[in-house]
Parts: sequence; structure tokens; C-alpha cells
Amino acid sequence: MDFTGKRVLVTGGSRGIGRAVAVGFAARGARVAINYHSSRAAAEETLSGLEGGPHLVVRADVTDPAAVERMVSVVVAGLGGLDIVVNNAGIWIDHPLDQVDYEQWQDAWRRVLEANLIGPANVSYCAARHMIDHGGGRIVNVSSRGAFRGEPDGPAYGASKAGLNSMSQSLARRLAPHNVFVGVVAPGWVETDMAADFLAGPHGDEIRDQSPLGRVARPEEVAQAVLFLAAEGSEYCTGAIIDVNGASYLRT
Ligand code: NAP
Repeated sequence: MDFTGKRVLVTGGSRGIGRAVAVGFAARGARVAINYHSSRAAAEETLSGLEGGPHLVVRADVTDPAAVERMVSVVVAGLGGLDIVVNNAGIWIDHPLDQVDYEQWQDAWRRVLEANLIGPANVSYCAARHMIDHGGGRIVNVSSRGAFRGEPDGPAYGASKAGLNSMSQSLARRLAPHNVFVGVVAPGWVETDMAADFLAGPHGDEIRDQSPLGRVARPEEVAQAVLFLAAEGSEYCTGAIIDVNGASYLRT
């Protein structure tokens, strides 16, 4: 896969899967904008590890619609355009229905939907409007196995990712005539900060054993699928959702 000359925005590119995605694009010739929210040092560290360039770092809270609009403008100006967006930023909050009070329940639903669904919707809007006016582009959204399997400890998370899948497929149909293609990657457990406490905890082995590979994914394995969907030649995959879950959950 060759991304020479492509300009890429990765939300939540400071750490974890987003960092691996940024590294993957840069290694294949792209110029990358690394978005972060609070981890400036991690974003700078990601930036300093990227091949090629020049790349840039851009701070924005994806739950803030005005900040999203500013972020896309800054990236378009800084990279001289925008060809590919990866909506990777996301959060997990534990909120099992039978263990949280009503206030905590509402707080979790609001925060998770804002970060995992409404944020990507706003990023997609601002980026796609630019892409439509400039000959096309790609949007790849990072979803989750939980959208299909259910998330008993984080129902808002599962719902946010199911919503992200549905939004992606709606946009794939709406935007293809504009030469904008939309794909989704749905990982199972991945070795990142988001999963670290669970993997190190008493259920770590159980989690690893969910896959017949006996381990969870490395961020680079998720990045591989993201890059595939963003690559030249993958246009007809628009609307597709690629599972990267080590056969831990096989949907029909
Ligand atoms: P992570 O290590 O916790 O990193 C999350 C990233 O999202 C960070 O770069 C963080 O930036 C950014 N972020 C969070 N809220 C943000 C906001 N409001 N605005 C901008 N950036 C924000 O997570 P990860 O495991 O790499 O997850 C990346 C994506 O994969 C998420 O969408 C997640 O749901 C999905 N996923 C993860 C797993 C897993 O097991 N790890 C499984 C399935 C799906 P700052 O640090 O700067 O705040």
C-alpha cells in the first residue's frame, strides 16, 4: 500500500491504535495530522516517531463541534488538503445497569455517545464537505466487536459503536457518488491503555482465550485493516465492516 502524497487526519492519534495507524500511514509516504485531546506529550512522542513528513499535531476535543470544525481547517491548512480521515478517538466507561445509579447511567450514556458517535459524525461532516469539493477522499471509522456481541458492562459503548457502523454505512451510500468512500474496522480486545487494566486483571487469561490465537490484537494489526480500507483499489469495499477480533466472535 502506497500513500505517497496523501494527507491523513487520525483522531486520537496520540496513543494506542491511533498511534499505530499514524505510524503505518507515515511509513507508506503519507503526511499525517495527529489529533489528541489531553495527552500532548504522547502526541508529540508519536509525531517524533513518524517517518517522512512534515507531519503535525492538532489538539481538539472531538465532542466539541466548534473544536472539530477548527481542527479540520487547521489540518487542511497545515497539510495543504485532506484525503483520508480515521475516526479512531473513543472512550470506554464501565456502567453496568445493576451497579450504577441513575445519574451515573445518564452521565455514561451522554459522554460515550458524544465521544464515540457524535464526535465522529461531526468530524465526518467537516472532512467530507472538504473532500466533496476537492475530488473525493476516504473515511475509516474504528468501531468494536461490542457493536455486534453486546457490552453488558458498557451498554452505551456497544450502542455507540453500533451507531457508528450504521452511520458509516449510511454515509458510504450517500458519499460514493462524490468519490468519498467509507469503511469500518471492528476490533476485539487490543493491547492498549484502554484495555490495560482488564488484561492485567483477574480476567486477563479469560480475555486472551476468547481468541483461538490465545492472545489479544496488537495495535498494528488493527492499523493494517484501516490502511487497507483507505488504500487505492479498496473503493468497492465502501460500506464494509472488517472484523479484527482473532475469530473471538464470528458474526453471520
Ligand atoms: P486508548 O489507548 O485509550 O486511546 C484513546 C485515544 O482517543 C487517545 O489518543 C485519546 O487522546 C483519544 N481521545 C479520547 N477522547 C477524545 C476526545 N474527546 N477528543 C479527542 N481525542 C480523544 O484507546 P485505543 O484502545 O487505542 O482505542 C482506539 C479506538 O479503538 C477507540 O475508538 C476504541 O473504542 C476502539 N477499540 C479499542 C479496543 C481495545 O481493546 N483497546 C477494542 C475495540 C475497539 P488523549 O489521550 O489525548 O485524550
